[in-house]
Amino acid sequence: MMISVLEFFRNLPKKKCHRCGGEIHEKADCYGNVCDECDHPAR
Ligand SMILES: [Zn+2]
Repeated sequence: MMISVLEFFRNLPKKKCHRCGGEIHEKADCYGNVCDECDHPAR
């Protein structure tokens, strides 16, 4: 019963920005549910 690692990660839900709907890249720190663009303090 071997499940490939790629298959495992493909089944994981992708994080999506709650503002623009863009894909959120996983980071060491959790910034919540918005992408880098929307999380920018200057915006
Ligand atoms: Zn966004």
